[in-house]
Amino acid sequence: MDQLAATLERIDGRGYKAYRDIEGRHPFPGFTLAIDKAQADPFAAPSRARVVVPWEVADLPDSAVNNPVRRRATRDYLARAFQQAAASVRALQIDAGAQTVLDRSAVLLTDAGVEVRFTVALPARGRTILGRQAAEILCRHLPQVVRAAVHAESLDLAELERHCAVVEDQVALRKALEDHGLVAFVGDGAILPRRSGVDERPLEAALPLHAPESLRVTLTAPNAGAVTGMGIRQGITLVVGGGFHGKSTLLNALQFGVYDHIPGDGREQVVTTTSAVKIRAEDGRAVHQVDLSPYIRELPFGKRTDAFTTELASGSTSQAAALQESLEAGAQVLLVDEDTSATNFMIRDRRMQALVAHSAEPITPFVDRIRELRDRLGISTLLVMGGSGDYLDAADTVIQMHDYAAYDVTTRAHEVAAQYHTGRQAEHQEPLTLPAGRRLKAASLCPENRSGKRKLQARGRETLLFGQETIDLRAVEQLVDVSQTRAIGLLLAHLSGSSDAPLTDPPERLAALLEQPWSQLLARPDGDLARPRHFEAMAALNRLRSARLVR
Ligand code: ADP
Ligand code: MG
Repeated sequence: MDQLAATLERIDGRGYKAYRDIEGRHPFPGFTLAIDKAQADPFAAPSRARVVVPWEVADLPDSAVNNPVRRRATRDYLARAFQQAAASVRALQIDAGAQTVLDRSAVLLTDAGVEVRFTVALPARGRTILGRQAAEILCRHLPQVVRAAVHAESLDLAELERHCAVVEDQVALRKALEDHGLVAFVGDGAILPRRSGVDERPLEAALPLHAPESLRVTLTAPNAGAVTGMGIRQGITLVVGGGFHGKSTLLNALQFGVYDHIPGDGREQVVTTTSAVKIRAEDGRAVHQVDLSPYIRELPFGKRTDAFTTELASGSTSQAAALQESLEAGAQVLLVDEDTSATNFMIRDRRMQALVAHSAEPITPFVDRIRELRDRLGISTLLVMGGSGDYLDAADTVIQMHDYAAYDVTTRAHEVAAQYHTGRQAEHQEPLTLPAGRRLKAASLCPENRSGKRKLQARGRETLLFGQETIDLRAVEQLVDVSQTRAIGLLLAHLSGSSDAPLTDPPERLAALLEQPWSQLLARPDGDLARPRHFEAMAALNRLRSARLVR
């Protein structure tokens, strides 16, 4: 530490590039600091650094590290603790999570100890090094932050235990779903609505959700014990109700139930099976050789739909593509909201069937396939549909949202369906099968820009710059964190290659990559990544316009 301080003293007042002199490892009392990359100028991305605190110094309780789930929770907690401890030191930044507890690369537990990865904005006046100020940050503030955030003696151990317990319970509840024939579960008292479209924290003064008696199930969690709540069963579940009564809020909570949430989020006991995928319309996107034929055939001018390719999908073709792509990637549960669906993909009523002959309508609406998805392919659907009763016949369970409360109206819904026939003619033709998998021409993925430099950059959660291209991820709703977007760039770069032989089963390859530890996935010790699901990584690949995914 003294040596680092001496170096900083020496380069004080020199040109910014002299900061390179502090790259490397610096032993401090109680930890090692590594400056992996000093930024080249004051306006570049901040310098990347790490500290490693030996186990005996950190002295974390056994219960914080004694299984992989708790280790993930502890890593997440320590990143938040570091962020909090460094809150007043603007130059020190760490990539800590928001409402979800993801597998992030900011804090790792290794053989050597607790490794914390962060960035330092090395101070300058113009391009002149402010060495004494840098020493203040690195040699005075940093050791304080490390002590506060990584040493058990200064951590709030009760809060750490709660963090671990809540995450461990969510994983256990999610695992218990299948044994109970469920695809999702909403613990009694859950707070579902968020503060706003740009604030994921729980809405204050929200009405907690309680299960209707007929849908109440009891699951067991290792820490909370017996947990009661609303079970969403396998099969077809319809959510109905008047506008603004909380239907989409319920579905949104469930789509994020594939992730673990922090204590106090309100959704700590809202869990959804990990293979649940939101299916929505997204006109304007690209589609690569997706078989839409079970839903859409014989487009005008003989355009094929068994290997449908377009640069500019419509609402219905984009939603059909999203459905088929999700099944290709292994989705077991489909989440659909009328708010983000193409009407003509979802329904066609008796009158429209009479006016527009079947031969003139290429679309077999989802309502005519939803039972086959369940019965032939074992795919469950959770569908929000307040605007059309045509799905009542197919639904196994109907939940009505009224004044933000849930009611089981299944019996009544079936009575209504029997009383008022839709008069519709089912339109499907050939039996439904799973879409055939596509292969990826790896050479079509080019992570380099025009001058041959690797360019992978997330501009917020929703935009990924990949080589010369920009991938629009706005409609990939189950991506929750910009660090996941960054990780997807990296995963796609891993798939790229010069081989002419196409890669088989790209979803499987992405899933296999995602099984690897960060040390394998990362060429350098980056601390700003979070693990996505393979579904979202595949969704990005599907939206990459230059990708060649072939049948
Ligand atoms: P719907 O899909 O039925 O039209 P939304 O789910 O979009 O309705 O909810 C409408 C509004 O009600 C949203 O602003 C949402 O934040 C709010 N809201 C939803 N659930 C609750 C709740 N439990 N308590 C308070 N407000 C809620
Ligand atoms: Mg809605």
